[in-house]
Amino acid sequence: MRSGPLDELSALCLACGACCDGTLFTHAELDADESARLGARLRMLPLSSERPAFAQPCSAHDGAGCTLYEQRPSVCSRYRCELYKACEAKTAKVDASIALVRRIKVLAARVREKLGSDDTPRSLWQRVATLGSTTSAELAARDPDLAMDIAELALRVKRDLGVAPDGKLPGSSP
Ligand code: SF4
Ligand code: SF4
Repeated sequence: MRSGPLDELSALCLACGACCDGTLFTHAELDADESARLGARLRMLPLSSERPAFAQPCSAHDGAGCTLYEQRPSVCSRYRCELYKACEAKTAKVDASIALVRRIKVLAARVREKLGSDDTPRSLWQRVATLGSTTSAELAARDPDLAMDIAELALRVKRDLGVAPDGKLPGSSP
């Protein structure tokens, strides 16, 4: 998330939060210094790989923005979704982009509520991508509104945010 001290694009991320709240990603990696500095304030995952990582939904996201903004990890400050990049490059308008992320937020909230909790450590986007490709006919018969929300959410995340359902917040240091 790139919301913070006000610049023109802050409003976009403040209206969104999808790269922090578990909609798009499952986890993000830290370097060793950040882990020591921020580990107590983030929901750290058990150390199973070379790099320390924290889980999403991020414990520093309060529903409106990042409560660690000035000290946030470098992976967060580097990350930009495709929509953010387009606004930055002025190939998309910020106002119209805010409308897009607001729609994604509404859809994500509805889908999350209907799907309920999940025992597996998947982002909402990973769950939606799986459901959309494997059980769409059965889902459409059982709950057509949910099926439509899932289809629209999948389309918008792919098309507007340009994020693949891989789980990890991209951009960790090499
Ligand atoms: S997904 Fe994009 S628009 Fe949304 S908070 Fe993250 S960088 Fe900002
Ligand atoms: S530390 Fe801040 S910017 Fe990074 S994932 Fe958490 S809420 Fe988002």
